[in-house]
Amino acid sequence: MDVYKLQKSDWGELPLNKESFESSTGKRNPWYTNNRSGNPATFAVCPGCDNPILILGFLFKLANTDTPYARHYQGNVEGLAEYRDWAYENCPYSNPKEYDRKSKRPAADPLGDKILDILVPNFDRVVYLLEKDIGIRISSALAEKMLEDYRDWNGHLYMGATLQNIPWVFAYMTVSKSLAGRVVFNNSELLAAIEEHQVQGVVIDHKSHRIGWQEGKYLSLDVCFIHHRARHRDHHLQETMVMQVTTGRPPHAREIYRQTIEFNRDHFKNLLNMSPERAKRPRRKELVELAEKILGTR
Ligand SMILES: [Zn+2]
Repeated sequence: MDVYKLQKSDWGELPLNKESFESSTGKRNPWYTNNRSGNPATFAVCPGCDNPILILGFLFKLANTDTPYARHYQGNVEGLAEYRDWAYENCPYSNPKEYDRKSKRPAADPLGDKILDILVPNFDRVVYLLEKDIGIRISSALAEKMLEDYRDWNGHLYMGATLQNIPWVFAYMTVSKSLAGRVVFNNSELLAAIEEHQVQGVVIDHKSHRIGWQEGKYLSLDVCFIHHRARHRDHHLQETMVMQVTTGRPPHAREIYRQTIEFNRDHFKNLLNMSPERAKRPRRKELVELAEKILGTR
């Protein structure tokens, strides 16, 4: 991996950079310590699973690459992190993959609670990021339904969930939702696809960008988030999911539109770090309260 964090309680990932690592650690223990064999080594914490990671290539040139990278360390590093096998097995940084089944972390794993501690107080920001990525307005009523799905499916325990991918995994851990009545404020491709496929009974208002329907007709038009995938490119983790829009009921459903959504983890990090003075948009307290109501009493 090409990112790290300095301690378990941090939630953001930092790019692996020798200068900033040296200055922020002061070259002190527990980051600079001995490995199991008694040889000096440089350690940090994995942003994905809170396990220890070993940093390679800061001081000595690597055989296969000029770029430093970090990899999981299967042992405890005193004062930094203890190795948890389950978390390692399911960490996107160790094991890039498609998370096919909605498999869960053990309920006792501390990462799940940390995810909720970020998701709940920042739920308005999560909604903002998702709206921006999908171009569809998420009303309070829709947000509430999604929160209920996430709660019922134990989204915070999903094995692909990390502290950095919270907004997208939130959407991924919901089930199919109707697009009837939704405002598509910034996704002209989606609106064009709905028209092109001549979805029965649909009426698109091109002024308000609202997906309406003919009176007395039932509109079958649904959106869901599928195929959460993680893969590495040059030690960099790339995560995506797919937004799929269909009409009809399976097995006779027809795909109208599909869009790959790349997780912009840095954007989420920047949003969380934004000071109130610099924020352009006011916080939406009602959304945070909604999240507290539904996810607060676990
Ligand atoms: Zn990890």
